[in-house]
Parts: sequence; C-alpha cells; structure tokens
Amino acid sequence: MSDLTSKTRQRRFTMLTEAPVQFTIETLTGVRVRFKIRNASLSGVALETADALPADESLAVGCIVPATKVTCDGHEHTLGRMIVRSVAQKGDLTQVSLSTVDARIPVDGILGRHLVETIGDGNSPYDFELSSEKFSLADFREGNEQDVDLFAKTKKFSVFLREWEKSDRFGYKNVRTPSMGSRVKLAASRKNGRHDFLLMGSNDYLGLASDPEVIKAAKDAMDDYGFGSTGSPVTSGLSLVHEELSEMLAHLFRKDKVILFNSGYAANLGAISGLIQAQDLVVADMIAHASIQDGMALCQGTARFFKHNNAEHLDALLQENRKDHCGALMITEGVFSMDGDVGALPQLLKVAEKHKCRTMVDEAHSFGVIGPRGFGACEKFEVTDQVDMIMGTFSKVCGGIGGFIAADQDVADWLYILARAHVFSVSIPPSTAAAALKALQIFTRDKSLLERLQANIKHFAAGLRELGFPISLSHESAVLPAVIGDQTKLGIMNRAMLDLGVFVVPIVYPAVSRNKVRFRFTVMATQTISDLDYALNALEQAMKKADFSPHAALAPAVKASA
Ligand code: PMP
Repeated sequence: MSDLTSKTRQRRFTMLTEAPVQFTIETLTGVRVRFKIRNASLSGVALETADALPADESLAVGCIVPATKVTCDGHEHTLGRMIVRSVAQKGDLTQVSLSTVDARIPVDGILGRHLVETIGDGNSPYDFELSSEKFSLADFREGNEQDVDLFAKTKKFSVFLREWEKSDRFGYKNVRTPSMGSRVKLAASRKNGRHDFLLMGSNDYLGLASDPEVIKAAKDAMDDYGFGSTGSPVTSGLSLVHEELSEMLAHLFRKDKVILFNSGYAANLGAISGLIQAQDLVVADMIAHASIQDGMALCQGTARFFKHNNAEHLDALLQENRKDHCGALMITEGVFSMDGDVGALPQLLKVAEKHKCRTMVDEAHSFGVIGPRGFGACEKFEVTDQVDMIMGTFSKVCGGIGGFIAADQDVADWLYILARAHVFSVSIPPSTAAAALKALQIFTRDKSLLERLQANIKHFAAGLRELGFPISLSHESAVLPAVIGDQTKLGIMNRAMLDLGVFVVPIVYPAVSRNKVRFRFTVMATQTISDLDYALNALEQAMKKADFSPHAALAPAVKASA
C-alpha cells in the first residue's frame, strides 16, 4: 500500500455531539435499530445506541447487515451492506462498529460538516479498520483509490486472491473437462486420483442441458444460422427462432408479449433501470438477487428494500414512501436463490395493489420447479394474471443461457426500445434460442421430468433433515441450503466431500454472513435416488471428519416455516 494511501486510510473523524445525524440499520431479520455515530472513516463507522439490540443474533460480530442508511440534516443517504466488526456494552449504551461492503461512508460528503478529523493512535476501540479481518471487499474498493495508477489496487487484490485460492475457503474455480449431466469430470482430482464427481450444485434442475434432442436442436440451428446472432435484437440479431421462443413463453405465462434478453441478469437490469425513472419508486425484498439490486442501483428513481417476505413491512414502507412518488414497482422472487424458500406472493401482491404499485416476480429458480405444471410461484399461488411482469431465465429450466420478461403489450413495447440491456447488447445465438425452445417443448410435454425433480427434492430434503439440518417440511425448491456456520469446518467438509466424489458449492462471506456460511445443494431430475443417498452419506462422513453437527438453535426454524 502506498504512503499516500495509508495516510488516507488512517483519516478518522469524530462526530460533533449535537450533530443532527442518525444512523439506521436494518438487519437480515428485519429489525430496525437507530444509532448515533461516534466515529467514522471512509470504510467504517463506530455507533452507539441506548436501544436494545435484536435478540436473534442478527447483529452479532461477522453478520452482514443488508441495509444501512444515514440521515443527516433531513437528507437520507443509503450506504448498502455493512459487516459487524465489534459489539460492546458500555454502561447503558451498546457500541457497535461496522465496516462497509458496497459503499463508503460520506465523510467528505453529507457528513463532512459534522465531523472533526482525528488522528488514530491504533489503540482506540473504534479502530475497526485496523482490527478488521483481511477480507473485506471495501478494502479493495477503496484501499488504493488515490493511487495514480488505476491498476495498483489490482496488484494487492491479486496477492490476496492467490492466498485465498490456497486456503480451504476458496471453491470458485472448478474447471470441467468434457462431460455433462449430473456426473461431471473436473480437472482437479480426488484423493484417489479419479476425476469424476457427482454434481450437487448445478442450476440445470431438469437436466435438459445434456438432453440429446436439445443438443440436436442447437446443432441444427447452428447449421441454419451460423454461430452468433450477429447483433442486438433491434438490429440484426432477431431470428425466427427467437420469435418462436418469445411466443411460446408469452403463451405459457399468459401475457401479450415476451422480451428476450441475453441473460437473466440482463433482464432484471434492463427492465428495472428501463422502467423506473427519477420520479418513481422501486421496492424489493431485502435478499433479492444481485441483478435486481443492480437494476435498482442503476435506475434514476428511489430504491427501497422491505424485510424478507414481510408484507407488513412492505405496507409500512409504501405507507411512508409511496405518496412522494409517481409510479411504483414491487419486486420479489418466486424462489430465493440462497435459501431456496418461496416468495410470499399472495400477501405481497395484496399490499402492492393497496398502494397502487405495479408488480414483478423473478421466477429464475421457480420456473421449471414449482407449481402444478412447474411454471413457477405465480402458477402455484394462481396469481399469474395479477403480476404485471414475470421474469425468468433459460439458465435453470433449460440449462442454457438467456433471460426474459413477460408482460402486457405496452410494457413490452417500452422495454423493447427503452431497456438498454435489450437494445445495446447482442441477442442470444439462434442455436441457444433453438435449444431453449426445444427444452421448453420437452418440459411441457413430458410431465415425468417435473415429477422426478419434485420427488428428488423431497428425498434430499428428508435426508438433510435426518442429518439434523433445519429444512422445512414443506420445502419445494431445488435449492437446499446446509448451513455450517463455521468457515474452517466448511472448508474441511468441502475437501472431504470432493475426495468422496461429491461436488457441491460452498457459499462463504460475503455472499452470506460469516455465521451463515453453507453448502448450497441443488437437486436435479436426472439424479437417481442412490445418487442422492450417496451425496447424503458423503455429507455425513464429512460432518464426522469436521466434528460438525447442525446447530441445535436452528431447529425451531423447521416448525416456524413448515
Ligand atoms: N435472478 C435470480 C433470482 C437468480 O438467482 C439469477 C442467477 N442465478 C438471476 C436472476 C440471473 O440469471 P442468469 O444467471 O440466467 O443471468
């Protein structure tokens, strides 16, 4: 780190006593706590409050708080996610220090005139940066920003990444060698030298990525159209196959029109940023996918988050914010991608309707998995016609790539021309569109695929429950989290499972809080019951090896959500 930078990072500030400044945290469990700021730096704050902290551990050291904001002189500034660094009791006051994950503290911005610069001696309990653990994205976002060489920060990051890769905590570069389906070959080897693995972390829930008919459809379209689509959908990138795919989806989701995007990520980004203008409001579930959050960050309007699946909080949020805005959009998900739980659509839609709020449901993980015909959460709750925009991807149900928004004609017309991710980016290749179309045709004609997937989900959920993991009795999605909560044990268990030939994705901070690190198992229709039992057995052996048993404190969650 250059001298210039280390000086910048040591800049600390004390808040003037009577400053009209309030810091608000909303925890993952939706508890809101208000604080006074004591000290601040670019990448952290030291806070105190006389209020009680939530009893549910959602503000324990290491937790991520998904929403923070500072109100200063009547102006509100959203700071995004932060991580809890320390919690201490000082008499009647509770002191909490946080460091930033996504944003920086506006010490030179709105807070500036209420702060006095101090030089830290390194011994202050508020020296949160010095005591922070090595890995914080904030360190890399802000650490070297004053260096005149743009790439200086990347050198430091690269050293960090090499170290990370060597540790058990890293599981994010698994190179596949030619193989497909639920048994894959990886470049890495197991202890016994073999390279074959049972895949328990794929999004290809129905196994259609390797279906011979799907592969043939892609090959045929490649023969007809060549490799790429050659342009954006509004220039040269639209083919008959794209049109046929859109029409089929519009029919399935009972909307006038479907607009295709080149990924699910682009569909969310394009639709949200394309529709929400400066005078509008967009509200989404607190744990909505990054693509929804990024669309909200990109749009010109006001963005707010409601507590996870909490219609009461949505109501309060809209009560507070709706009147100051023209248009409004409420966004939630059919199935949440990390926890695999289902969106509370009926309750949320009712509140949205009460506040004259348009609605959008991301069916990325629910299309192909839940609902009587597998069309998603809107089908399950019979609310397809009430939801204004249904978003989906081809990366799960079809095992391919591409995203879409199904909507009424006017909205679709708007997105076609004004969603920049649609206009200024190449469309999916015709071969991909043809494969997605074939995959959807197979899925809609062959009910047994959905039946097998749903049976496998039930079997695996029961197996996880038997091992002590608090999976709801009514769990329906193909995403099954096994929370380990200890990064070292997760690493040991991951290695043990790989050695036994089971490939599952470990999810670590900052994707989830440090105390919620987990395996994110996903189940496929093409796995056999003995495959699933093998994976469960490997997990059990790995648990023994790491001396891990699921936390007893988590058990009530089964009852609560069952
Ligand atoms: N929405 C959700 C809920 C997701 O989980 C994902 C990715 N897994 C996306 C959108 C983005 O989809 P894609 O990977 O197809 O771009």
